[in-house]
Amino acid sequence: MTILALNEWEQRVVNRIDELKDELVLLCQDLIRIPSWDRQTRGEAEVAHRVGKTLETHDIHPEYFASHPNIDNLVATWGAEKGPRRLLFNGHSDVIPPGEDWTVDPFTAEIREEFIYGRGAVDMKGGISSMTMAVCALRDLDVPIQGSLIVNVVGDEERQGQLGTTWCIDNIWEKIRADGAIISEPSGLGGFGPTVCFGEKGPAWVKVTMKGEKAHGSVPSIGKNAIERMLQLLRALRETQPPRVPPPLSQDELVQEFAAAVGVEPHVMKALIERGGKSSPITAGIEAMTKTTMNIGTIQGGVAPNVVPDRCEAQIDFRILPGQKPQEMIDFIASMAVDLGYSEYCRVELVEAFEGTSTPNFRQDPLLITLFGSVRELVGPTIFFMVPFASDGRLLRKAGLTSTAVYGPGNLTLAHTADEKVAIADLLNATKVFAISALRYLGVKE
Ligand SMILES: [Zn+2]
Repeated sequence: MTILALNEWEQRVVNRIDELKDELVLLCQDLIRIPSWDRQTRGEAEVAHRVGKTLETHDIHPEYFASHPNIDNLVATWGAEKGPRRLLFNGHSDVIPPGEDWTVDPFTAEIREEFIYGRGAVDMKGGISSMTMAVCALRDLDVPIQGSLIVNVVGDEERQGQLGTTWCIDNIWEKIRADGAIISEPSGLGGFGPTVCFGEKGPAWVKVTMKGEKAHGSVPSIGKNAIERMLQLLRALRETQPPRVPPPLSQDELVQEFAAAVGVEPHVMKALIERGGKSSPITAGIEAMTKTTMNIGTIQGGVAPNVVPDRCEAQIDFRILPGQKPQEMIDFIASMAVDLGYSEYCRVELVEAFEGTSTPNFRQDPLLITLFGSVRELVGPTIFFMVPFASDGRLLRKAGLTSTAVYGPGNLTLAHTADEKVAIADLLNATKVFAISALRYLGVKE
């Protein structure tokens, strides 16, 4: 840790955050203790109000905006009325259902060996706690920041954000309008540590329906087997690979990022990565970040072994890169069906899709370079990365807030898993990164 690089204000803020550690941990635990996955309960509203209670304790006064009887979106602004910039911290209050296979209770927020366990620990009640306490620390010290800092806790992210970030953009844009935004979703990459994410891929879920002709299974050649037609199509898709566009960061550039972060020569890094094999998290991560991926997720067809099936349905999850249109995946499958002579039996439709987004020229973007520098100084080596999942960042970028980053505490691969957990050290580090990035991005009055 290079604390020497911090100036006097920054050092005071870091010290203040260390003093607030217990309050930070308690806030995260309290948020986990509010189950907020069921729209029939007030969970999402209660999370917003629990964050609001902490802000009030530190003399910051939030407003609540109901987008649904059980969802309150929180907005709190602190700082100078006027200033060169506004910075938005965005986090979502909802979680996914707990699911099976937990070895701890998902809603008691138990602490074991310096980790807080529970549904939402990384996705993303940890992130909300850190961004909230960062603003509280700045407020406690009355740091004379220029511009203002906005805390926005939204609902509905796991259901695509219509009643959360999209609702805020459509209804209270003036309150959340900013020059830069940080989404505090987890951005840690396994054993490597924190990353700074400048973009995200988009899902394009496609349903393929293949028709055949029914016949008795004892004389199969009379019929046309829809499952066999589907298998041929899927095999052709796998052999051809989905359409490609140049990724925002190439594989070579990513290897260079990793090499620079850990201080080794790129060829050494490349050898280390190759040694890990094709299925190592780092190789799989690089692959997912630089290519459009395809996962055949479901397949259904047939009614009995002795009937030639006349219908087969498959669903495919493509993850497309920024710059690609979901329609390209439809066209890709349709052209394969034509090649196989199946176009009249095959229907291809989009089930759900949105485009990938990224911050243009992210290496020159004032917020992203500030955030990157703060992470490197306060936490350690980091890289620019692209999240393989979708976050509310895509909605903000589409609304014109292109200078949007995803950075937050915890390991992103633990999101949506059983025994989800976040390290207390990660919470503390992220709180410092948020506060110092805000100071540097907004500026302090002399
Ligand atoms: Zn999330």
